[in-house]
Amino acid sequence: MEIYKFGSEILRAETQSVEDITDEIRDLLDDMIETMILAPGIGLAAPQVGHDLRMFVMNTEENQFDKIINPVVLEAEGVSTFNEGCLSFPEIFADVARPDWIKVRYLNEDGEELELERDGLWARCFQHELDHLDGRLLVDNLTQKQLRKMREELNQIENLGRQQNK
Ligand code: ZN
Repeated sequence: MEIYKFGSEILRAETQSVEDITDEIRDLLDDMIETMILAPGIGLAAPQVGHDLRMFVMNTEENQFDKIINPVVLEAEGVSTFNEGCLSFPEIFADVARPDWIKVRYLNEDGEELELERDGLWARCFQHELDHLDGRLLVDNLTQKQLRKMREELNQIENLGRQQNK
């Protein structure tokens, strides 16, 4: 699957909840996992591959692939800073502060509702991917100073993203 870069309109589009977890949705999640592995990355949200749906995939531990549908953060605590990357911002990494503990609810691909408490990389990645479903991108979490430093690289990516035209 093609990964849409910063500058593509789909990354800012409003997303829809997944009403029915059909075979089509499950196939899409499988394709997203394959695309994430090949990229390579540890998280990929549906808008990044051109679908305005509230779902994403993650691989924050070896051999563990999470398929996350209609996610909600119920509680969040603490704060930590981590050097984040994003497949829609090739070769850009930037420190982002986020809560370091979260309680979340989502559906898995079998339609089962899960409620989990997590910290560390899983929690970090979950929040980054959830941002994508709200049209919020890595650049939106940066300070003016951080943005100034990487302005040129960001402009280059944005031009590429605009040409992808989705
Ligand atoms: Zn991302």
